[in-house]
Amino acid sequence: MSKSYSDTFTGPHMLGIAGLNRLEVISLLDRAEQFVALNRQRKKHQDLLNGRTLINLFFEPSTRTQSSFELAGKRLGADVINMAIQTSSIAKGETLIDTAVTLNAMRPDLLVVRHSASGAAALLSQKVDCAVINAGDGAHEHPTQALLDALTLRAHFGDLSGLKIAICGDVVHSRVARSNIILLTLMGAQVRLCAPPTLLPTKASAWGVEVFHDMKQALVGCDVVMVLRLQKERMNSACVPSSREYFHYFGLDREKLNLAKKGALVMHPGPMNRGVEIDSEIADDPNVSLINEQVESGVAMRMAVLASLAEGRHE
Ligand code: ASP
Repeated sequence: MSKSYSDTFTGPHMLGIAGLNRLEVISLLDRAEQFVALNRQRKKHQDLLNGRTLINLFFEPSTRTQSSFELAGKRLGADVINMAIQTSSIAKGETLIDTAVTLNAMRPDLLVVRHSASGAAALLSQKVDCAVINAGDGAHEHPTQALLDALTLRAHFGDLSGLKIAICGDVVHSRVARSNIILLTLMGAQVRLCAPPTLLPTKASAWGVEVFHDMKQALVGCDVVMVLRLQKERMNSACVPSSREYFHYFGLDREKLNLAKKGALVMHPGPMNRGVEIDSEIADDPNVSLINEQVESGVAMRMAVLASLAEGRHE
């Protein structure tokens, strides 16, 4: 199926923010906004995905993403299966492609994939007949995270254009950072990256962002500080001398946040390393922290993505 270039997002897959245009992003944000309202009602069900099957295939751990795709599918009336990787044939050595082709034979409509290899979701999309959603592929992209972050920001600022957003922390290992940089710059925000040189890709300055190694400078005048987790599981060797030293220079605490614009808001995709990249005092302060709202937005945004993909496919 070829990609449609209409104003609304219809798929055929959701593999990354790269490749989406501004109007497609706006169509997803508008649709998700309606699902936020639905999710706040007592009766949260719609039947847009009645008769459709969604399979969650997570090769890496997940709390928020997997459970929100599951809830999103169920709230829209789909049959949802979570593949238990530990007890499946994958644990016996079955390859990614063999697993996907097997699942494809069960005729799912939507396949949500998380894998440690960049490009895994794109590869699968070539082997199966259903819509593939990338729920994180290595350090490459995590498109629904960036979309839910944009939804959260839009609820607070109305428009993303002109916002100054500092993305701080382990950028080099972060698919969240990559998807957010593409989406935020597409929507007209000014993005700053801040990290020690060991946690920034050398090509970062070519991404249309400002690069900082000093957090105190990076935060001056920012509307939003997006903090990233130190992804130790993706580090071959130590990229920072110690967690304590890292927190001193790059951990977001009140003193550093005070350098941002008055009323600046804080985001984190989770899971958090408290006392490493963010101080609990900030993470738990409802006046500045959007972290729980990001989780709420996540369900609504995944509903919007699933509904749009299902509608984009022929009956
Ligand atoms: N949950 C996000 C991801 O899977 C962020 C993180 O793990 O730090 O990429």
